[in-house]
Amino acid sequence: MSNKELDSLIIKIKNYEKRRQPLEPHQSHRDELNKHMIAYSDSFLRSISHSKAFEDDNSLADTLLEEPIKEEASSFSDILDQLWNCVDNQGLNPASGGHLGYIPGGGVFASSIGDYLAAITNRYAGMHFASPGAVNIERRLIAWMCQIFDMPKKSGGTMCSGGSIASLIGITCARDTMGITPDKVSKSVIYLCDHTHHCVHKAIRIAGLTHAIIRNIPRDLKDRMCTQSLEQQIKSDISDGLLPFIVISSAGSTDTGAVDDLYTIGLISKANNVWHHVDAAYGGFFMLCEEQRPIFRGIEDADSIVVDPHKGLFLPYGLGVLLIKDQSLLLPTFHYKANYMQDAYRDMDVFSPADLSPELTRHYRALRMWIPIKLHGIGPFRDALHEKLLLAQYATVKLKMIRYCKLRSTPMLSVVCFRLEPHQSETDNNENEQLVDFIRKRGKVFLSSTVIDGATYIRMAILSFRTNIETVDLALDEIRCYISTHIDQV
Ligand SMILES: *Cc1c(COP(=O)(O)O)cnc(C)c1O
Repeated sequence: MSNKELDSLIIKIKNYEKRRQPLEPHQSHRDELNKHMIAYSDSFLRSISHSKAFEDDNSLADTLLEEPIKEEASSFSDILDQLWNCVDNQGLNPASGGHLGYIPGGGVFASSIGDYLAAITNRYAGMHFASPGAVNIERRLIAWMCQIFDMPKKSGGTMCSGGSIASLIGITCARDTMGITPDKVSKSVIYLCDHTHHCVHKAIRIAGLTHAIIRNIPRDLKDRMCTQSLEQQIKSDISDGLLPFIVISSAGSTDTGAVDDLYTIGLISKANNVWHHVDAAYGGFFMLCEEQRPIFRGIEDADSIVVDPHKGLFLPYGLGVLLIKDQSLLLPTFHYKANYMQDAYRDMDVFSPADLSPELTRHYRALRMWIPIKLHGIGPFRDALHEKLLLAQYATVKLKMIRYCKLRSTPMLSVVCFRLEPHQSETDNNENEQLVDFIRKRGKVFLSSTVIDGATYIRMAILSFRTNIETVDLALDEIRCYISTHIDQV
């Protein structure tokens, strides 16, 4: 290359550098953006106590699909207007305390600061050598969660996007630890219930276990896995020459909030050399409430546990955790080496998150949990969980006073499962589905339904930190309103 050509190359480079300047906004532009962002989040939070829990009309959301992705810049206030209209006021509002469907959580404010700072500093949280601090924050939080569940010294785990991926990590590790090679899959047996969360079935498929034998163990009268049936089934499978592999129990099922008899399931699993995986995605953090701990007895002996801080710790979506009795068991499944990574293996006495999960480059997600916990202390989180349990008791008492209303059972945690039975007939399912529709269209609160043994049940899942006694009263009013306008008037 001649000197002249080199000069012209440098000029071109400098020209592109100038043109990419918008990617690094100046202080004054950042101030402007921050001001708008804060104004937006303030108006969102100012209106949250009276904003709708559900907006049934989705027409504005659909306009997003027609939008061209343009070469030129758009104004930030236009972007925020669009976000307000087309996203934040359409469909479900999970930040609202009126979200009583599925499993809510809310999204505490302090987490947003964690996400903001994580995005700005962009620490590399996959490898200890790259960011020992970011990795140690995660390790500290995982150790704390292991301690909540009284897990042994060697325990550990990994943070991921949610309960579904955490289940996949746990089940894949169980597969490898138990030596379920492809030739053994068709003789391997998986024990679960019809109330097991469907993410477990997805995980089974992704882990290549579709051809394993799946036993749906019956439920007892409290909708818990029947431990007698489990034991009998394992015995008969062994005598048939099959390989009992894993039991998946629930510490708070999505349908009814039932917590299985983890202690007995643990004993049966241990006696038969079966992996015991506990899905505590919904219920796990109720372990912070001292008086609830007996319900979870036996969880300390689980081989793996899934918890979802984006549910029971009220964090915004995007944080699930897999805890495991012996952290080193994750290595054979997830620890790989590569030539281009050779400089990253300097401190191998510390397991990096990348050695313990499918992810390599990953969100610095521990910060969104660490900041709220440090800032507020555990106290307010525990108090909110206590409040949710009592609100579920309150809702139970009040629902029993509503005509036609029949409770599934006394809630073990904070999911209240009930149905209206005005006709005592087949049409009751229809009636309950219409009630859910009625409430969703009005949007004051949001409830979801499920089907148990052929009957439609409505669930009031009380877990958002923003749900208070007035919210529960509002939900009860909606139910009474439906009864008076749709059942008694007819
Ligand atoms: C929510 C939930 C899951 C799935 O977790 P995600 O975070 O939604 O992926 C699994 N099990 C139970 C019991 C749950 O409530």
